Amino acid sequence: MKLDVNVLRYLSKDDFRVLTAVEMGMRNHEIVPAELIDRIASLRHGGTYKVLKNLLKHKLLHHDSSKYDGFRLTYLGYDFLAIKTMVNRGVFSSVGRQIGVGKESDIFEVANEDGTIMAMKLHRLGRTSFRAVKSKRDYLKHRSSFSWLYLSRLAALKEFAFMKALQEHGFPVPNAVDCNRHCVIMSLVQGYPFVQVKQLQNPEIVFEKIIGIVVRLAEHGLIHCDFNEFNIMIDDDENITIIDFPQMVSVSHRNAEMYFDRDVECIIKFFSKRFNLSFEANADDLDSDEESDTVKPRFSSIKKASGFLDKELSASGFSRKEQDDIEKFTDKIPHSDYDDDEDDEDEDEDEDEDKDEDDDHDSSNLKASDIQNFDSLCSLTKDGDIKQLEA
Ligand code: ADP
Ligand code: MG
Repeated sequence: MKLDVNVLRYLSKDDFRVLTAVEMGMRNHEIVPAELIDRIASLRHGGTYKVLKNLLKHKLLHHDSSKYDGFRLTYLGYDFLAIKTMVNRGVFSSVGRQIGVGKESDIFEVANEDGTIMAMKLHRLGRTSFRAVKSKRDYLKHRSSFSWLYLSRLAALKEFAFMKALQEHGFPVPNAVDCNRHCVIMSLVQGYPFVQVKQLQNPEIVFEKIIGIVVRLAEHGLIHCDFNEFNIMIDDDENITIIDFPQMVSVSHRNAEMYFDRDVECIIKFFSKRFNLSFEANADDLDSDEESDTVKPRFSSIKKASGFLDKELSASGFSRKEQDDIEKFTDKIPHSDYDDDEDDEDEDEDEDEDKDEDDDHDSSNLKASDIQNFDSLCSLTKDGDIKQLEA
């Protein structure tokens, strides 16, 4: 079974109270002792243990008794907490089909009461690349189970903050609607991933538009870092929308030039292969002719703004430390949409644990299903109960 969103309807107030208690416990425990969960949830008459059993049955929790009797959230449990919060806020009321599977995210259609359809991106940092990071034995080595929660939340927060800031500066990005935990709600982009497009009416114009965005981003102090045909959407009128922002960096990043050049190269390569656009006249990097700069812009010749990241992002609640934390992680995963075969290298004693993560993931894939209603869920659980717990 993947996720049956219907389960949400049958989860009671107490179920969510205990699930939230586990989440709170995970701030400082990889595996949260059952006793601690019981203390945080403080249900009457030892009710916590019965609830834990129910949550385990629905795969919202993972049980671990190797050191002591304890639990941690699964992706699915975390999904449900985020979804429930959003539903209670009135952001959306139903979840529809899955529209995207990234390496580190799952994307679904959701709809609000008015029938407006939006996109919900559930970040899954750690699903694949986390293994690569672990095997490199550095960052987060000792924080394994906690880290996917933390990093996925950071990725969502960062993506939301960037999308908002970019939108305010007139970049063609989805409208950032809301964000909670590892979940970002944004407007649904009309059109298709560029990778699916075989023909263009005006390839030169589209190319210029796209390269223009890379340049304008840099002028604003930013580099996308995963700028390629998977993260560009295009509609029938050949309008462009850029998506997928968790890995963006500042132009002051120590590898900024390399990231910038790589973004540019990706686009040039795709256009020459797919649409037979010729860039030969400009292939010579030493050519200082101004015209070649518009085809293959040079990092050094762009007038870059500084401070965009720091100012706008800290204003949006994304701190410098969080920025550093997630950068340490994403630095290890160059071009996440491309690195298809690295994951299984180098696995060692972490293997069992990785398997666990996979199991969690299997049980946490929202099933592509018809749009489901969450009305009954809203009436079961009031926001206040959870807020009280989190305070
Ligand atoms: P990842 O970080 O996992 O690569 P993306 O943000 O690139 O995730 O999304 C993966 C896929 O989901 C995209 O290639 C696209 O097909 C689809 N998608 C993502 N966001 C939207 C959106 N706002 N509207 C429509 N489709 C989207
Ligand atoms: Mg992507």
